[in-house]
Amino acid sequence: MVATEFLLDELTRLESLHRRRFLKTVAQESAHRIRYGGRELANFSSNDYLGLASDARVKAAAQAAIEAFHVSAGSSRLICGNLEIHERLESGLALLKMEETALVFSSGYLANLGIITALTGEGSQIFSDALNHASIIDGCRLSRAQLFVYRHQDLDHLERLLQDAPAARRRLIVSDGVFSMDGDVAGLPGLASLASRHDCLLMLDEAHATGVLGSTGAGVGEYFVERGQLPPGNDCIDVAMGTLSKALGSFGGFAACSSHLREFLINKARPFIFATALPPSAAGAALESLKVLREEPFRRESLWKNCRLLKKLLVQAGFSLAGSETPIIPLTFGTESAALRMSERLLERGYFVPAIRPPSVPQGTSRLRITVCATHSTDDIEGLARALGELAQERE
Ligand SMILES: *Cc1c(COP(=O)(O)O)cnc(C)c1O
Repeated sequence: MVATEFLLDELTRLESLHRRRFLKTVAQESAHRIRYGGRELANFSSNDYLGLASDARVKAAAQAAIEAFHVSAGSSRLICGNLEIHERLESGLALLKMEETALVFSSGYLANLGIITALTGEGSQIFSDALNHASIIDGCRLSRAQLFVYRHQDLDHLERLLQDAPAARRRLIVSDGVFSMDGDVAGLPGLASLASRHDCLLMLDEAHATGVLGSTGAGVGEYFVERGQLPPGNDCIDVAMGTLSKALGSFGGFAACSSHLREFLINKARPFIFATALPPSAAGAALESLKVLREEPFRRESLWKNCRLLKKLLVQAGFSLAGSETPIIPLTFGTESAALRMSERLLERGYFVPAIRPPSVPQGTSRLRITVCATHSTDDIEGLARALGELAQERE
């Protein structure tokens, strides 16, 4: 036996299941244009919803932050890495999220690990949606809390689990705000009511909601207030987690919450305590993106206009969009190989839309995950819908 034999065995096994993953080397010209394999393609897979990662002002702000604060923060926030630019960014995030304060982490993934493990632990209970993001699942596992997984968006099931669970010291309900592979929005009014009736903390992961949902981009809370399903000024989310790496076009994660909760996280969240602070360039870029978000609401309007157009065309072409309410549009093909084949055929036609397979999504639901950006042209969108319609007909 050779000690490393299992490496190739496992890769071969994944290959036979069409689940092996390979890195693709690309060059990004903008949120919606990508160079791959020597060709320029329309990209429908970026999370850079508003096109801010390539915005000249955001890039200049990242460079200015390097000049002012250097390349690295040099240590964790609690040692000597807490820079003025981190605190300005946190004030800006708190303002956007309409929360008292915010705390920045080195990535969204680490924010989820940090918040969940700090707020729970042995003797606590976590109630988690079955389709929550992997970083939430990992936070739950690491916390050693008792885990209750409720069926996706099934609040009756959640309520039954809450009622039947034994008494516990602390309870946390956690959900994606926008589900990252399905594009549906968490039923916040129902979750908030259950959290308050069953004495739970409520945490929402707003990675795909921040900058996208609501007229100012504040996220899921604003979305439901504007639909008249939550009272204005309500404060039903105890901790809104978010990332700087999607609509804000930068890198890093955050928690928006009360100042007590922030102080608690500074003392208890291990990924905050034991990781080097966010690089100044990432903080500077995100700060500038927050300004663009406030001053240029037309970006969000273009995003939603593009989103409505693509959905209309896909429905006309006979596709079912499942429950998508956002710029994340899943087209489910079932098997890994069917989804991969569709992705390859789209690539031939000039569209970059990767296939998403287990373990990112449940077995039997392999899909194309389309994301729409503010910067796509009408031609891009009409072209993708046409290509998908023709490919689907060929399959029949
Ligand atoms: C992307 C994502 C994260 C992780 O954020 P990063 O900043 O990329 O680490 C967490 N939760 C959800 C729902 C996401 O989509």
